[in-house]
Amino acid sequence: MPKKPVHFLLVDDLEENLISLEGLLRRDNLVLMKARSGTEALELLLQYDFALALLDVQMPGMDGFELAELMRGTARTNRIPIIFLTAGAHDRQRRFHGYEAGAVDFIYKPIEPDVLRSKTGVFYDLYRQQQELQSQRDELAISSGENQRLLGESRSYADQLREADRRKDEFLATLAHELRNPLAPIRNGLQILRMSKDETMSANVRDMMDRQLSHLVRLIDDLLDVSRISEGKIALRRGLISVQSAVDSAVEVSKPLIEAGRHHLTLDVPSAPLWLSADPIRIAQIISNLLNNAAKYTPQGGQLRLSVVVEGAGVSIGVTDNGIGISPDMLPRIFDLFTQVDHRKEQAQGGLGIGLALVKQLVAMHGGTVRAESAGLEKGSTFTIWLPLSDQAPADVLQEGPDDGAPARALEFLVIDDNVPSAQTTGLMLEMIGHKVTIAHDGLAAVELAKKIHPDVMLLDIGLPGLNGYEVCKKLKAMPDFTGTVFIAQTGWGQESDKKQAFEAGFDHHIVKPISFQEFSGLLRGIQRAKADAR
Ligand code: ADP
Repeated sequence: MPKKPVHFLLVDDLEENLISLEGLLRRDNLVLMKARSGTEALELLLQYDFALALLDVQMPGMDGFELAELMRGTARTNRIPIIFLTAGAHDRQRRFHGYEAGAVDFIYKPIEPDVLRSKTGVFYDLYRQQQELQSQRDELAISSGENQRLLGESRSYADQLREADRRKDEFLATLAHELRNPLAPIRNGLQILRMSKDETMSANVRDMMDRQLSHLVRLIDDLLDVSRISEGKIALRRGLISVQSAVDSAVEVSKPLIEAGRHHLTLDVPSAPLWLSADPIRIAQIISNLLNNAAKYTPQGGQLRLSVVVEGAGVSIGVTDNGIGISPDMLPRIFDLFTQVDHRKEQAQGGLGIGLALVKQLVAMHGGTVRAESAGLEKGSTFTIWLPLSDQAPADVLQEGPDDGAPARALEFLVIDDNVPSAQTTGLMLEMIGHKVTIAHDGLAAVELAKKIHPDVMLLDIGLPGLNGYEVCKKLKAMPDFTGTVFIAQTGWGQESDKKQAFEAGFDHHIVKPISFQEFSGLLRGIQRAKADAR
């Protein structure tokens, strides 16, 4: 970096003296400012920072000593070193005067160049050192400010990391707890089924196991949904749906929890259909999440209410309970991921703290909003979602009933899964509802068997020894004999990309394990109907 020039002030009433001083002092990076009187010097002193002032003592008007006194009396100039230039005929008194005014030195005329250069050189160097010190101090101040900022920033990152780590540990503990909860009764149920001969008891235990399993599946689905939504991987399958049908499905799903809490649910839903352009499964999921929470966070025998009202260009769906309520400080955070109010142990209701985060994300994806209200602890809560109504009303909407009377026809299945228990139980289930089943456990055997039996439906796992599910599907689809065969991929991988890959390989359907019997029966009814139509 080029060094800033150093300024000296030269004051003398005689021009020739100034010129000779200038000639003697000239050096690189030194600027010599000349003043012919005290007044001129004062003007220059206001404009520049001087490393040294060389003052002639004898000047008309303001002499050198008076100028020095003025300089000492002013904050801006009182630290500038002064060298008086004197003709030498000075008396002790005047010299004393000079020191009093703050002089640091005297140079006697006629000036000896070496003396002048060496004395002024000292001040030149001193000023330079001061300048360097100052710039180091400035740099130090800047870098220490920067260090402070970085320190503050890293402290705040560390705090955030610690908090995230704490929440992760807490989440893993809750997750383990939540997964164990349904597993324990399932294992007990199995033991009871092994020992019990009582048909009614066995039926009850099986229902219980089914409920627990659904709970497990829902937990895992919710977990995956949250991460898929935040990665933008969930696409809505929008259709024209009525709010009423979404409410019905949600109530159906939440019924077991509401009944287990012996709550009374009041539905306040207008009878004229209200149409949404929305994903029916997601809307039912949103409403049933709110209903489940109302049931979970309300002591036994509570009053729950689900109301639907038109509001502006949309519809408000409110779920109210008279349960444990939410404190005002928690309300703003209730929709954050993994937020759970720290309930007393005896009130703990399980859950992962993702339900409401999911509700908020899904509602937002539909262009809607959600809000929570509570008058405080023990005062109940209301969760309200608002969704835009569709401006279309279908002339004829096909509502598929649970059983549309499609003629049942036994189908020939080839079930391929390298997980032997999974293949066997799927086979058993299909046989119990009247279908014919052959089982294989690897890709090559699957192709050979398929060529032999020409099944109506190939139920294929994807990860298989020999050929994988995609390869088996591609191979068979390329043969003319399999144009009438329905290919279903059955896998543990449920991401949109997995589905896409399955469809690209030629699969007609993609289902995620574990298959819900209802879902699967619906699919089979469709296949049976298609087969019947094709005849
Ligand atoms: P989870 O129920 O799995 O803990 P949610 O995201 O569904 O997770 O809910 C987050 C938290 O909000 C719950 O832990 C609970 O403390 C509180 N909460 C949700 N719904 C209600 C409600 N109806 N009444 C009182 N508190 C509720």
